[in-house]
Amino acid sequence: MIANKKYDALIVGAGPAGAFAAERLAKGGAQVVLFDGRPPGKPKACGGGVTSKALIAWPFLLEAMGRTIDEVEMHSPSGARVRLKLNEPFAIYSRTALDAHLCARAQNAGASVCNKQVSLAPRINGDQLWTVCSRDGEKWQGRVVVAADGANSPIARRFAGALPNAEMEVAFGYRAPLPRVGTPLTVIAFLPGWAGYAWAFPRLDHISFGIATSQDAFDHPTLDRLLWQFMIGYYRQREKPGIKLWEVSEQAEDKARDAKTKQHLGECAERYAARIPGLAAETWSHRQVGGTDWALLGDAAGFADPVTGEGIYYALRSAEMFADAYLAGDVAAYDSHWRADFGRELRRASAMRMRFYGQFFGSPFTGRMIDFARLHPGIRRTLCELVAGDQGYVDLKRTLARRSLWPLAM
Ligand SMILES: Cc1cc2nc3c(=O)[nH]c(=O)nc-3n(C[C@H](O)[C@H](O)[C@H](O)COP(=O)(O)OP(=O)(O)OC[C@H]3O[C@@H](n4cnc5c(N)ncnc54)[C@H](O)[C@@H]3O)c2cc1C
Repeated sequence: MIANKKYDALIVGAGPAGAFAAERLAKGGAQVVLFDGRPPGKPKACGGGVTSKALIAWPFLLEAMGRTIDEVEMHSPSGARVRLKLNEPFAIYSRTALDAHLCARAQNAGASVCNKQVSLAPRINGDQLWTVCSRDGEKWQGRVVVAADGANSPIARRFAGALPNAEMEVAFGYRAPLPRVGTPLTVIAFLPGWAGYAWAFPRLDHISFGIATSQDAFDHPTLDRLLWQFMIGYYRQREKPGIKLWEVSEQAEDKARDAKTKQHLGECAERYAARIPGLAAETWSHRQVGGTDWALLGDAAGFADPVTGEGIYYALRSAEMFADAYLAGDVAAYDSHWRADFGRELRRASAMRMRFYGQFFGSPFTGRMIDFARLHPGIRRTLCELVAGDQGYVDLKRTLARRSLWPLAM
């Protein structure tokens, strides 16, 4: 890498947002350098679930090594469950595999990739170029700077201000072995007494278990206990399908098996944790994420679904929209284009979050939704479409009402 080499665009962060933006810009003829300081082989903390909507928009994602699934089991806080058969597959990736695939595409398109942690230098009056520096003193300059450096982005704080804790979700979990018996089913379980959910996402050679909830309400010991209960329940259900996920059995045989599972997981499960942005409804209207020569993409911009924490689709879509604006010679247009494309949807999701995880006629809404889905094909279909990413929040109430005549107070 040449010190002080000048580029058209400096992209900080080679997750899905940065790598895809680098690929698109390089294909359009721009001189791009893409930085990432992540140690080789250390995956980004993530469930790795990629919706059917994303796979249809960018079919090349399926070339990355991952597991495609067409069935998801959803559990209510009380343990009721419904099996959803998806019309289009959903993919689950190890983030090492997904990120390496996207980064290789960027490189093949002509982007320079630099495995270094960098920071954005202050701009001195009159500077026409942005400068980023590595810890060892190397410098790169570019006309446009792009922050795709994730939820804790210092560059985003500089351009758009810091987000309060109330607008951050916390997600943590464990990478654990696939079950020895039964099918490694994909499970989403709404938490008893908490806003958020636990997941079991089987990948090719392990399972990613996790919990996502809001940072404000975060109580790590209690949530960690809940997650262990979920993980042990998951393995138990593979062997004894009739038993409820959250149920603690008093039978000696079950207790002994659960203790063995716990000990095994304690020896081999790898813990991970990270934050996901979860913007408040009012923040979407005033948060500016692009200017004439800068842009924030993906998590750095705050683009994750506040109900589900899903951010990979928005990382890729924001990268695509930024690249289109750049190649059309109007970087500043990106800030209005994302609003017109998915801004309303994310704002609506923020507004719905508390109702989604709140009460509905004296019971958790999520529990009611699963109870209804068990009985009603129209609600089941809507849930499938939500999981696939095809059902938005803006018209969710209308769809549910049309399909079921269910009086949804959302
Ligand atoms: C536990 C957990 C589970 C999740 N599960 C899912 C899921 O199943 N499906 C889904 O759609 N979303 C999920 N998400 C959200 C998803 O991970 C993010 O929305 C997505 O990764 C955002 O992509 P990105 O490219 O914007 O940022 P990131 O993927 O965070 O990539 C940012 C990159 O920037 C690099 N970087 C940071 N600072 C610097 C620096 N100074 N210099 C150089 N490089 C830097 C980092 O190393 C990183 O590789 C989950 C998040 C968490 C925390």
